[in-house]
Amino acid sequence: MKIITLVLRVWVLLLFINPLFAQKIELSRVEPAFWWVGMKNPELQLLVYGKDISYAKVSLNYPGVALKEVVSVENPNYLFVYLNILPTAQAGTFPIQFQWGKQSKIFNYELKKRAKSALDYAGFTNADAIYLITPDRFANGDPSNDQVAGMTDQTDRSQAYKRHGGDIKGMMNNLDYIADMGFTALWVNPLLENNQPQASYHGYAITDFYKIDARFGTNEDYRKLTEMCHQRGLKMIQDMVFNHSGLEHWFVKDLPMKDWIHQFPTFTRSNYRLSTSFDPYVSDFDRDKMAMGWFDTSMPDLNQRNRFLGTYLTQNSIWWIEYVGLDGIRMDTHPYPYKDFMAQWCKAVLTEYPNFNIVGEVWEENSVPAEAYWQMHAPNKDGYQSYLPSVTDFPLCLAYNKAFNEQEEWNTGLLRIYYTLTQDVLYPNPNDNVIFLDNHDLTRFATSVNKDLNKMKMGLASLLTMRGVPQIYYGTEIMMEGPGNDHGKLRGDFPGGWEGDSKNAFTKQGLTSEEADLQAFTRKLLQWRKTKKVIQYGKLMHFIPEDNLYVYFRYDDQETVMVVLNNHQSAKTLDMQRFKERLRGFSSAYNVITGENISALQTLNLPPKSATVLELK
Ligand code: CA
Repeated sequence: MKIITLVLRVWVLLLFINPLFAQKIELSRVEPAFWWVGMKNPELQLLVYGKDISYAKVSLNYPGVALKEVVSVENPNYLFVYLNILPTAQAGTFPIQFQWGKQSKIFNYELKKRAKSALDYAGFTNADAIYLITPDRFANGDPSNDQVAGMTDQTDRSQAYKRHGGDIKGMMNNLDYIADMGFTALWVNPLLENNQPQASYHGYAITDFYKIDARFGTNEDYRKLTEMCHQRGLKMIQDMVFNHSGLEHWFVKDLPMKDWIHQFPTFTRSNYRLSTSFDPYVSDFDRDKMAMGWFDTSMPDLNQRNRFLGTYLTQNSIWWIEYVGLDGIRMDTHPYPYKDFMAQWCKAVLTEYPNFNIVGEVWEENSVPAEAYWQMHAPNKDGYQSYLPSVTDFPLCLAYNKAFNEQEEWNTGLLRIYYTLTQDVLYPNPNDNVIFLDNHDLTRFATSVNKDLNKMKMGLASLLTMRGVPQIYYGTEIMMEGPGNDHGKLRGDFPGGWEGDSKNAFTKQGLTSEEADLQAFTRKLLQWRKTKKVIQYGKLMHFIPEDNLYVYFRYDDQETVMVVLNNHQSAKTLDMQRFKERLRGFSSAYNVITGENISALQTLNLPPKSATVLELK
């Protein structure tokens, strides 16, 4: 009896330590599932996932493709397979064989032909104006995907933090509205699967990096949306998140290895102190907590220094650029991952696509130096080179949100805008900054200025004539309101996006006169900006605000535009004498907003709380 027990114990022990006793290997996923020939970087890492797949021997036979390395890791359910794809490799499909004993699994791997040359991925530029959309809240074009079996967070429009049903079809249906407004690019909050139990509508807790959320549509729908955008002169900027995934991500539930994510004995939150990135006196403790602490309980912090994960993320971004034909990336929480990895990633993307563009979310509203640290070519004392072309101009956003609500003291009111811009000396390329009045995380501009139409117009007129690449959050053009501290409400439903909406901003039906007025005003300036190289690429000269009046010029060899912000509650007459260095040679002007021609430039009449935009003649 004892001997039998012993034999049984040894057998059970062997079962656990000897792979030969494994029952059956499985092959569940290969990521990326396909790739392209003719990429600059010949190396391709395949993440292979399936029960006990690491025991398999891998083989393939395809001209121009070499099996470089096969790595098994702590978890036997993963294999990392490295291919070397030579320039001679032709597009085609070949079997990759996973053999273990008599068991064999085949994955037919496809190498596609590239749709266009790497140089043709032009990226968004200063000529663009970006429309930011929270897809769940913009338009519901396909009610049949509102409830999807197997997805835990279902649609309920009566709840601010539930999904509301907006989708890719909804955006497709309304691209003509967006293009007609004068926008030339879309930045859509993440569309990737977020199969999280709650508040999954925002998209920032990704549970599959290679799959569009079924409630938005399919990967192919997203590719089609981008194609439709391109047909209308709209670029597509994808929102990506490398700092964290969703807790329900399949690889989090069966980690390849312990250090795939940052783990702590008890839940440890990031300190959110972006200053730790460059602080010359920083402690390791604070810096590590910033980079390794979790963004939220539902968002495990990814360890991009893990070789396999770092490559996985970089390839994932290149896969989406190539598959969809993207024109840009907006990287979420850019300073939260390891900054050495983020620099490597930017460099890898720009090496593959030299004309591409990336904007990193660097939320540093109170510090231009902190913002500027992250822009490519910044002469940082610590030698850090980010390779990140564009940053989000939070300091300018904050200035805009305060300026029009304040009267002028030494450094308040319009002086906030002025002083913020004087610090442009710290940005290597301030004209590459993405500028905005609000976004999906911030109190909507309409709420900030208490729905004052004149202040809205001052903000939008200045944004659309300022240096940088302007970005407008969906609904700001019709004065949608929303508090920054209640995201579910901030990201409200765009009127007209749902069947039966009593108000429809697409058709203008039911808009108040002020909402319609602002929409037309925004459209006029966007359409005008589209044609004005001087606004897109011209130089900027401004004059210190005096008496609640701020004057700046955009100019190049061909044209000069004068912008005047009158922050008074009353009409003013501006004596133009002080600006003669920029007025020289001009005798009249065209008022872009009113359409009037002005025949003399000695003085200028300014309505109360107004923006005046003049093309000098
Ligand atoms: Ca839907």
